[in-house]
Amino acid sequence: MTEMLTRFPALTMLSEEEELFRQSVREFAAAEVLPHVREMDEAGVFRPDLIRKFFELGLMGIEVPEPWGGAGATIFLATLAIEELARVDASAAIYVDVQNTLVNNCLLRWGNEEQKVRYFPRLTSAMLGAFALSEPASGSDAFGLQTRAERKGDHWRLTGRKFWITNGGEAGFFIVFANTDFSKGYKGITGFLVEREFEGFAVGKKENKLGIRASSTCELILEECRVPDENVLGPVGVGYKISIETLNEGRIGIGAQMVGVSQGALDAALGYVKERKQFGKRIAEFQGVQFQLAQMRTELEAARLMVYNAARLKDGGRPFTQEASMAKLFSSQVADRITSKALELFGGYGYSKEYPVEKFYRDAKIGTIYEGTSNMQLLTIAKAMVQS
Ligand SMILES: Cc1cc2nc3c(=O)[nH]c(=O)nc-3n(C[C@H](O)[C@H](O)[C@H](O)COP(=O)(O)OP(=O)(O)OC[C@H]3O[C@@H](n4cnc5c(N)ncnc54)[C@H](O)[C@@H]3O)c2cc1C
Repeated sequence: MTEMLTRFPALTMLSEEEELFRQSVREFAAAEVLPHVREMDEAGVFRPDLIRKFFELGLMGIEVPEPWGGAGATIFLATLAIEELARVDASAAIYVDVQNTLVNNCLLRWGNEEQKVRYFPRLTSAMLGAFALSEPASGSDAFGLQTRAERKGDHWRLTGRKFWITNGGEAGFFIVFANTDFSKGYKGITGFLVEREFEGFAVGKKENKLGIRASSTCELILEECRVPDENVLGPVGVGYKISIETLNEGRIGIGAQMVGVSQGALDAALGYVKERKQFGKRIAEFQGVQFQLAQMRTELEAARLMVYNAARLKDGGRPFTQEASMAKLFSSQVADRITSKALELFGGYGYSKEYPVEKFYRDAKIGTIYEGTSNMQLLTIAKAMVQS
């Protein structure tokens, strides 16, 4: 029996390495991130010293092979890091999430050897990356993007605007999708590796947001931006596949972020109901309150299992697209419900910025929007069902 459990462990049974890693991120988040969460949220700015610490701790190249400065580990470890950071601050989590599950993942899978040698040592040590697909007029319909790329001898000229780009404020490296031939429709979409200093590139307006306020979300402006030929990512015209397949892994990360946010809100609510007294009793003693806590705990467990399963499938080289979509859809719905209920359990105090739950509530909402809205996840899940 024990042998069976070792061969097929429960999803929440971690290896010693995973357990140690989770513990180290948990301690780091509590000691170094937590004291600054409120101030960063109010200012709408993330502390640069914390971003430097993410690099120093090895959180920014989890799946990148060791020769290029990474840890050569799994997406499961990245999932644990994102979850633990999000328990304390969803903005901290999204810096680590985008770097690992979008930028590094995309370059690892689609970059050539020379591009990896050129960029990974920087991406794992100091340089933030960003993933730029969305535009003002194309979000869910991402392949309707209007940024164009024209070949001019040994380089390309990119012109257009990208919108909502996470990490845009601080990133030095951007994976930008543009269309090289509109007559081919989405089969003209191509990925480009763009450095912040490239001629014709600028970072525009930064959004003032409801939640994940400390995470920078920016517009990118490309005006005849000069990109050398050697910075084309993957084959020309395959950008649609590159972007979609990258987002499949990304969704596991967003699921982890939502699980972390839910856990943070539930922890806060549980602590509060054990202290707060009404009608001469702690409110945790009321069965009505206990049932709500039990429901929250159960939904959170289900969401976590779905996220861990999608990560394990990916690490095991199995198909995971549908599972990642379901994990992202469900965990963001759960986060929406748990954070809302946690706020209610705090009563009037939940509505105040003196307590942490209103921030969890605001931060949870993004899970149903980015990397494909909930409707788009339903579309992906349903497509796989009716096509098979
Ligand atoms: C904080 C933040 C960070 C982001 N970071 C990034 C980033 O780093 N990189 C990046 O490229 N993008 C990023 N995005 C963009 C994000 O991915 C898009 O906002 C998202 O995909 C939705 O697109 P949209 O905003 O244009 O909404 P729309 O596509 O206009 O959708 C509006 C509504 O219509 C619904 N809808 C649309 N089409 C359908 C359909 N066919 N069937 C049913 N319902 C439909 C949607 O579900 C939604 O409810 C970010 C967005 C935010 C808010």
